[in-house]
Amino acid sequence: MENEATVSKHFIEQIIDKDLAEGVYDHVQTRFPPEPNGYLHIGHAKSILLNYGLSQEYGGKFNLRFDDTNPTKEKSEFVESIKEDVAWLGANWEDRLFFASNYFPIMYECAVKLIKKGKAFVCDLSADEIREYRGTLTEPGKNSPYRDRSVEENLQLFENMKNGMYEDGAKVLRAKIDMASSNINMRDPILYRVAHMTHHNTGDAWCIYPMYDFAHPIEDAVEHITHSICTLEFEDHRPLYDWVVRECEFPNPPKQIEFAKLYLRNVVTGKRYIKKLVEEGIVDGWDDPRLVSISGLRRRGYTPEAIKMFVDMCGVSKANSTADYAALEYCIREDLKLKRSRVMAVLNPLKLIIDNYPEDQIEYLDAPNNLENEELGSRKVPFGRELYIEQEDFMEVPPKKYFRLFPGNEVRLMNAYFVTCTDVVKDADGNVVEVHCTYDPETKSGSGFNGRKVKGTIHWVAAKTALEVTARLYENIIDEEKGVYNEDGSLNLNPNSLTTLTCFVEPSLAEAKPYESFQFVRNGYFCVDYKDSEPGKPVFNRIVSLKSSFKI
Ligand code: ATP
Ligand code: MG
Repeated sequence: MENEATVSKHFIEQIIDKDLAEGVYDHVQTRFPPEPNGYLHIGHAKSILLNYGLSQEYGGKFNLRFDDTNPTKEKSEFVESIKEDVAWLGANWEDRLFFASNYFPIMYECAVKLIKKGKAFVCDLSADEIREYRGTLTEPGKNSPYRDRSVEENLQLFENMKNGMYEDGAKVLRAKIDMASSNINMRDPILYRVAHMTHHNTGDAWCIYPMYDFAHPIEDAVEHITHSICTLEFEDHRPLYDWVVRECEFPNPPKQIEFAKLYLRNVVTGKRYIKKLVEEGIVDGWDDPRLVSISGLRRRGYTPEAIKMFVDMCGVSKANSTADYAALEYCIREDLKLKRSRVMAVLNPLKLIIDNYPEDQIEYLDAPNNLENEELGSRKVPFGRELYIEQEDFMEVPPKKYFRLFPGNEVRLMNAYFVTCTDVVKDADGNVVEVHCTYDPETKSGSGFNGRKVKGTIHWVAAKTALEVTARLYENIIDEEKGVYNEDGSLNLNPNSLTTLTCFVEPSLAEAKPYESFQFVRNGYFCVDYKDSEPGKPVFNRIVSLKSSFKI
């Protein structure tokens, strides 16, 4: 890894450096401007951490602003979830929490100013006509027949719009720019529309609502944002952004900078898809652990540190690219590796009976919590005559290089003794239901025994004291590469996206609290589900397995 001083700055930092050096701005102020119409996802995490990170790096300020100018889809539930997610990621907006809808009076004033300057007009064309008049990429548009209304008439009509005198769609306010512009966004774009709708914040105070391209630059300017960072699809809107702040005569206006969105290969990230999964009841809410919503990742057991590592790894650029989900998994493994205790849990249990071990004896053996981090200390693990081991750790007829348990073979039971397989018991169908062993008391872990060597070590849980829990394993819910939709329009779901197992874990895990996570040795990292766990009965979500082919 390069050290900090040699890491080259990304293009947005270079723009900021130049702006500060040239005195364009004397401070840095960024914002995260979510529309409260859904929960945030991993892509938003990139935007949050980028904007917040820049404000920290330059000793500036960071605003959380709800872009709630569209009354149709917005809900207070989303406002609360977004605040929770942004805070959890560590982006601290302090007292700078804003709602764009509180700027409706300022936006109205700006529109009046544009009308007075002859830069905006009320247009009576229908939506279809406006589209027709707009022209195409290769043909210029045509002026609206209403374009030359007088300033006085426009002021009156706009006031009438505001006062509820027109039906939805009857009139709009448009900027007067250039119907022949090569940039379609500049062909007299709509600034305000009539919409008789109740807004979650302003109620019925307004029946005209500003369009995004008009509202957003004003929101930024009012808050003294310096660098308004957005994603690439807004690049063609930048001339309009600049036009709005210039014509509305904001001193020291903000500048828009676009960067490439974060995409995850084969994973659905868009709010639209996540919403569909939630609304169709396919997932258990917006925070289903299979989703890459921030609340889903949190519930799954991801940490803010891992998400930050991932976002940093992806970098900031103007070129669209797609990150591997495996990279995200790499980051959470790295983050948890030294922080979490490693405990024994058997996911697919098979009974192991040690015939020469005293029948009712329970012995407490020392087990280190994390061999790579001694600071995590050790714990006592109960051991007894009957244990559970993983089904896959026993084979009656082993293939070559199988070093785990099979008749006649000796293995180490992790943190315990050597056992040798002597016999099996089968059910009527011929399935092995019990494995019998003998143990060698001399081989106790930590006893310094160095007589024989064994090639395999397996984990186990003592049957008598085991805690029976539910564990859930996950796979991608929709593989985007294989198509989000089937031919009939239904979602192309992976039938194996959720596997629920009844398994056995060390009794100490009865105390595990929601969101607490552990490594289950050889099986991966698991996190206690906050929704479905009950006191003494945790439900574990697998965050990630231990193995990966991913390399950086
Ligand atoms: P979606 O595409 O999932 O519907 P959105 O862009 O509609 O999301 P907004 O609430 O409008 O969601 O976005 C808030 C901010 O997050 C915007 O500045 C937007 O550019 C940014 N953002 C959204 N998706 C991504 C992404 N995939 N990568 C980086 N930034 C993103
Ligand atoms: Mg949006």
